[in-house]
Amino acid sequence: MQKNIQTVKKIAILTSGGDAPGMNAAIRAIVIAAQHYHLEVVGFYAGYNGLIDDVSTPLGLTDVSHIIHRGGTILKSARCPAMETTLGIEQATSTLLKAQVDALIVIGGDGSFAGLMALQKQWSGQVIGIPGTIDNDIDGTDFTIGFSTAINTAIEAIDKIRDTAEAFERIFIIELMGRHSGHIAFNVGIACAAEQIISFENFVSNRNTNHHEADKLKTLAKEIKQAQANRHASYIIVLAENLWRGGASALAQQLQTIAEIDCTPCILGHIQRGGSPVAKDRILATKMGVAAVQAIISGQSNIMIAEQSNNIVHVALSTAIMHQQGVSESLVQAQDNILALTAQHLS
Ligand code: ATP
Repeated sequence: MQKNIQTVKKIAILTSGGDAPGMNAAIRAIVIAAQHYHLEVVGFYAGYNGLIDDVSTPLGLTDVSHIIHRGGTILKSARCPAMETTLGIEQATSTLLKAQVDALIVIGGDGSFAGLMALQKQWSGQVIGIPGTIDNDIDGTDFTIGFSTAINTAIEAIDKIRDTAEAFERIFIIELMGRHSGHIAFNVGIACAAEQIISFENFVSNRNTNHHEADKLKTLAKEIKQAQANRHASYIIVLAENLWRGGASALAQQLQTIAEIDCTPCILGHIQRGGSPVAKDRILATKMGVAAVQAIISGQSNIMIAEQSNNIVHVALSTAIMHQQGVSESLVQAQDNILALTAQHLS
């Protein structure tokens, strides 16, 4: 439903869920675009907590100068379980009405968008989502803000691990973030020439998990032994988080128990969320921030700003949270092909 643009005077922003490098660049772009359209901007702190507890700050040009290169988010981010309750939604609505906010932009992941959709049922203002998550697990956009920086950070770290692994002929199991998607694991694994990628897309989970893990363990042990017999060198296994019960440490332990293979587990962890955003994330965030304000001016609501084949488009929030857009089959296939070719070469 389109709103009369004359009625939009004040917009609010918040950053929610896991922080992602580039969120600040998006905040900056929103504030600059809002200034252009003579809109007042207010930022709520710590995700939906800021709305529920009514903690906010006005945002002007000076507040967003020189933040484009900074990781994290100047508005802080947080999970907010209270937002998933009726009372929480009522409190958030009451804050928005009291502050006379006409439109709310939320920069976050699919959970944050679910929050926007819940709010929209109670509050009549415009709601716009900007995909900001390192996981890249949002449908309808080719990339989310933060993903490119996160994979570059992980690649840099694994390249360093490769150096020491190569010197000592060590086997590493490196656990990467991604929640329940393998975008980070697959992209990083391929870019680092990992000998193995174990992720949701190539680990069938619709079987009994016990049997499946046992099968995978046996195959993995066999492949590691074969590779090590052919050439004494480093061996890197990239493992998606939340996939193997007990994670990288448990997998290392199990390989030791069943086949006396020594592996070093390494959980890369929050290093993947931090750091200065790479150019791609800064530019994506800037384009999306400006587009979000323009969408508000043109009366849009209930949409996510997305990028498809280099074009900025609008996608329904309900589509964005569907979780149907996994790692592309071609990427999974590419890794399979590389492994098959490598095995042929070594045999
Ligand atoms: P990321 O996956 O990158 O961490 P996210 O936005 O998916 O980002 P979540 O923890 O899933 O992170 O959600 C962030 C917040 O969104 C939650 O803490 C909660 O405040 C709100 N939220 C999530 N789901 C709902 C829901 N169904 N209804 C209302 N609010 C929700």
